[in-house]
Amino acid sequence: MKVLEKYFLPSDYFREFHSITPQYLKDRGIKAVITDLDNTLVGYDEPDANESVLKWFKMMNENGIKVTIVSNGSRNRVGNFCDPHDIEYIFRARKPLGSAYKKAVAMMDENKDETVMIGDQLMTDVFGANRVGLKSVLVLPVKSKDGWATIVNRKIERILMNYFDRKGLIQWGD
Ligand SMILES: [Mg+2]
Repeated sequence: MKVLEKYFLPSDYFREFHSITPQYLKDRGIKAVITDLDNTLVGYDEPDANESVLKWFKMMNENGIKVTIVSNGSRNRVGNFCDPHDIEYIFRARKPLGSAYKKAVAMMDENKDETVMIGDQLMTDVFGANRVGLKSVLVLPVKSKDGWATIVNRKIERILMNYFDRKGLIQWGD
């Protein structure tokens, strides 16, 4: 079913966001990153950025790669995480709708061919990116625990992942 692949198959996938290096991005002509927050960078119930997150943002910054967090979370949730570290963000993004992705690309003054979306959910992060025409990288959720809205999406996601797995399109290894 080509339509499932078109909308829900990520361009690539990693176990953890911090495995995505500036070199990996440069090799693919990527200059800007949009990333999800909850369960992509930290667990959805962790309020603050940790050392691994800050190290990764610093590394991207030093390599001239712009990063914007695009989250469906509230102003408080996303602002409290980003503001202390001067991280750019869009809150209540309403992913998978495309407007926040387009806004983030414009904020970074890049074009969508050179921007990648990183996220832990096929139904929001990847679906939205694929619709807008951004590359997408799926990561495994930081924690198995999710907010209530996500629990429903995860059920559909499992069906999609099984389908991609059967077709050999996504293989996590073990
Ligand atoms: Mg998420």
